[in-house]
Order: sequence, then structure tokens, then C-alpha cells
Amino acid sequence: MTSIDTLHDQFRRELVEAGLLFDTGLDGLYARGAEFERILDAVDHLITRDGHAASDLTPAGSGYRLYRFPPVFPRDVYDKTDYIESFPDLTGLVHTFTGSSSDHRALLARRAADESWDHHLTPGDTVMVSSACHPLYGAIPQQLPEGGIAAEVNGYCFRHEPSPDPMRMQAFRMHEFVRIGTPSEAAEFRTAWVGRAQGLLSGLGLEVEAVAANDPFFGRAGKLLANGQLSNNLKTELVVHVYGDDHPADAIASCNLAEDHFGRNFSLTLPDGSTAHSACVGFGLERITLALLSVHGTDPAQWPATVRETLFP
Ligand code: ZN
Repeated sequence: MTSIDTLHDQFRRELVEAGLLFDTGLDGLYARGAEFERILDAVDHLITRDGHAASDLTPAGSGYRLYRFPPVFPRDVYDKTDYIESFPDLTGLVHTFTGSSSDHRALLARRAADESWDHHLTPGDTVMVSSACHPLYGAIPQQLPEGGIAAEVNGYCFRHEPSPDPMRMQAFRMHEFVRIGTPSEAAEFRTAWVGRAQGLLSGLGLEVEAVAANDPFFGRAGKLLANGQLSNNLKTELVVHVYGDDHPADAIASCNLAEDHFGRNFSLTLPDGSTAHSACVGFGLERITLALLSVHGTDPAQWPATVRETLFP
């Protein structure tokens, strides 16, 4: 059996040789080539189309309101998500220089001497976006309208997990649909999206399985959180065996029920005064693109006709 490290190296080399990705010298950080972006855009459009066709899931058919956030978001919003409790290891906090001219001279002197200079920077007000939907909870009104909110979020996320596996990038895009409403509205949204996402991804010739999953919570306390997430059935991942059935499958989308977690932390209140519940479905755009390249080959012209017609009508 070929080792997983060898398979990671092989896939990464194939992607770079085909001009789909370009190495930056740092594990998990790539420039994308034109063909890679063409596939990713097509996947993105398909997700938009299916999401909008799901308007039966939104309040009074009002559709999803689109939010595009920058790759960083306010630190106080990040703080309210409690992400630091569960994923300190994945977090990226932005530091900036706020010193005087003499502080700058001191920094440059250390740099000229080949010494580390980063302690001359101080933590700022922005954090790298941890999950595409996180900035949303700080950007919507706390008093929710009748029927709650249905939102679409599309943007870059950062997770500090350097890896030679191209499926595990440090910076990647997520396309999410988010539902904030009553407990049953949130739960029904999540359930409906498991089937919908599975249909969308199977239509691209990917053998996806829906599995109960947990997040990679940090540390010993994290094990309890992970067990709770599993036993309460809060996370369903859609996984594909990108490296063959002998190796662990990779998640390319996930359907999550947050219950009242964000509702409580962000004081999101429904018209009847109760705390809102929320759910989201997130599609990993790079991961889906990579799964397609792995399963169908690195030349889209050679992909099965049905897949090409679905993506490039
Ligand atoms: Zn989300």
C-alpha cells in the first residue's frame, strides 16, 4: 500500500506540474492557476444555483442575502464565537506596527543583524476569518425579523495547519448558506441540506458519503466537546476518499447545527423574545475542486461528459 505521505507528494507534484497550483514555499499556501480558478468558479456557480433553488427553505421565499467579508474580521466578533476555546492552534491574529521612529530603527537594526523583529509588532483589532460564517453573526441586527434570517456567505478562511497535503490548505474559500431562526427552522435547514449537498456533489461524479463528525477541538477538554458534538449529532460531513479507500476520507462540505450557541453569544433574539438557533452548510471550494481533479484527472477536457456539461454548460 502506498503511504499517505507519498500520495500527498504525488498529488501536489501533479497539480503543480499541470499549472493548476503554484507553490509559495510554505506548506498549505498556494497560488491558484487560471484553470484551477475556472473549475472553482464553475463549482461556486453550481452551489449558488442550487442554494437559490432551495428558496423553499427561506422565510417567505425571500431568498438568501449575500455577504462577502474580507479575509479578516473584528477581533471582538471573533472573541464572541468562542473559537479561541476550541481552536487556539488554528487561529491567526493580525499584528501591526504601532511604534515610534526610534522603535522602527530598533526593528530595522535587528532585521539587519538577521535577528527576529516580530516582537516589535503588536496585536491589532483584526483576526483572520476562522469560518466563513463567523463575521456574519456580528454583522446582522440582534433583533431578528419574523421568519429569521437566511444568508449566503462566500469568502476566504484561515486555519494554521501547515501540511504537505494539498487538501489541507492554510487559506481557502468556503461558500456557506446560513439559517438563523427557531430551533426547528435551524434543524430542518441542516437536515434538508445534507441531502441537497450530497445530490449536488454526486452530480459531479464524486462518491460522497454523509457521516456524523466532530471538529478537531484542541486539547484534553476538546475531547469532551468532540464527544458532545458527535453524540448530539450536530455536524454531518460529506466526505470523499481522495487518496483511495485504504486512507481516511476528506470532508469537502459540512452541515452544522450550532443550536443556540451563536444566538446566545451574539444576543440574537427572535420577535417572540426567544434566543435564535442557527445552522450552516459550508462547501470547501478548493477541496471540491481538488477532489474533482483527483477523481477525474488533472485535465478537465478529459472529464466525463456529464460532469463537464454540469460544470461548463
Ligand atoms: Zn458556518
